Amino acid sequence: MAEMQTHTGSCACGAVAYEVDTDLEGLMECNCSHCYRKGFVLAFVSPDAFRVTQEGPQTEYTFNTHKIRHRFCDTCGVQSFARGEKRDGSPMVAVNIRTLTDIEPFSWTAQRVDGRSF
Ligand SMILES: [Zn+2]
Repeated sequence: MAEMQTHTGSCACGAVAYEVDTDLEGLMECNCSHCYRKGFVLAFVSPDAFRVTQEGPQTEYTFNTHKIRHRFCDTCGVQSFARGEKRDGSPMVAVNIRTLTDIEPFSWTAQRVDGRSF
């Protein structure tokens, strides 16, 4: 059983940095046109478990239903997180755990989800 920990992450150049409280369980890789292209591995957390610590210039991108606000760094193009709502309308943050800087690469396991068919 994984334990809840505070992890730190950032984009590649460090202009955008954050902290997230997560047990790294229930991670998801999705085959939709956006997630798959960007190679996301996502953890879904509530906004109170997520804190931006370095807010460099970012561009926001939305598509499809425009409910999820994807943000990527203007300098290096890396997307660390997105903000949106769960199906029940409660706010959530989708964190790209490939941008965590304090865990070993590939130390996680993620479920593959068929987002393309949703
Ligand atoms: Zn950057």
